[in-house]
Amino acid sequence: MAEIDWDEIDNTLDDQFHDPAFAALHGTPIPGEGDNPKAFILGEAPGAQEVIQGRPFVGPAGNVLRQLMAVAGLSSTEFTGHTAGPNCWLTNTVKFRPPGNRKPTDDEVRAARPYLQREWIAVGKPRVVVLVGTIALYAITGKAQSILRAAGKVFYEISNTDGLPVYIWPMVHPSFGLRNPGVQPLLEQDWRKLGEWLVTHG
Ligand code: URA
Repeated sequence: MAEIDWDEIDNTLDDQFHDPAFAALHGTPIPGEGDNPKAFILGEAPGAQEVIQGRPFVGPAGNVLRQLMAVAGLSSTEFTGHTAGPNCWLTNTVKFRPPGNRKPTDDEVRAARPYLQREWIAVGKPRVVVLVGTIALYAITGKAQSILRAAGKVFYEISNTDGLPVYIWPMVHPSFGLRNPGVQPLLEQDWRKLGEWLVTHG
């Protein structure tokens, strides 16, 4: 497991608790999880199952995501539905479940950004950041834009302070695939492309 300074991260979560934008949110934060991360996989927010189990991506969309991660070689090939690792860190933009399963607001996403940055640093600055869905794309780019247009390729490359690039890969959210079964092959194709790309750039 990567060395994580949870105290530092918890301070930021504390700030979120006291931020008025988060007052409407309830429950305990659901932390990220993973092992020896090569990729930082960023979703939207926990749902009902995630709150029950205290882990990210363990509900219906999570099951699809974990299968897609296996397609990219980013989780155990033997899919159990209950392992995020090895090779990735799996987390959410907003760590609290928004009431009524609504989308996180722009304010909530903006308030989550410092925490996300620290989390990325704490898990060893993975060079590949996979943005799962429009909320994660908005959190990192600060712009609302079409995920369908951005998905399935290196959308942009950030030059990190250490001079090494960080590659940003947006992906369509698996819950969109669940609602639109016709999109499922596209999702698989995109994650397969990521897997192939990782072999040459990993
Ligand atoms: N579960 C999560 O943890 N995140 C999502 O974005 C969707 C479902």
